Amino acid sequence: MNYLQITHEDVCNGDGLRVVLWLSGCSHHCYNCQNPQTWNPDSGIPFDKSAKQEIFDELSKDYISGLTLTGGDPLYENNLDEVLKLVKEIRISFPEKTIWLYTGFEWNQIMNMQVMQPIFSCKDLESKIQNILKRQEIIKMCDVLVDGEYIDEQKDLTLKFRGSKNQRVIDVKKSLAQNKVVLYCD
Ligand code: SF4
Repeated sequence: MNYLQITHEDVCNGDGLRVVLWLSGCSHHCYNCQNPQTWNPDSGIPFDKSAKQEIFDELSKDYISGLTLTGGDPLYENNLDEVLKLVKEIRISFPEKTIWLYTGFEWNQIMNMQVMQPIFSCKDLESKIQNILKRQEIIKMCDVLVDGEYIDEQKDLTLKFRGSKNQRVIDVKKSLAQNKVVLYCD
């Protein structure tokens, strides 16, 4: 898994002051994406022990509210194993901190097990299902999910935490408890 940068004390990508991990790799290729340099999974540098330590050092500070995972798409297939490991460790080491995650996938696509791409074989289907299960597991450990592709025709600069009207800022725990999408904020 590669990443482009880690930003500190960020106030634009979630509530409070946050550490933000900008991951490489995105299959959505939205028209007028602000970060097309993140699409290639080989862009950036490998996410190694020192990058993880940098995030943990930030999360150790009282005034840091939590981690935001963005990119690129943290739920891009090549990122799933390492993102899953990372959020599990953060949940154990920093249970009081929040985790926000930005993805081009929609809540329903992941939670209702919709396979979005063509299937070429049983093995292919199995691997796509495994990826959806990993995405579900990651989301269940997050507090807030900002979902959906960026749609340029629905761009709205007044929106909080997102770029286009179709995207939603979802309260993960309430949504799971009520078995429907509950917004964290409008
Ligand atoms: S999902 Fe996000 S990073 Fe990926 S193309 Fe769309 S706007 Fe860009």
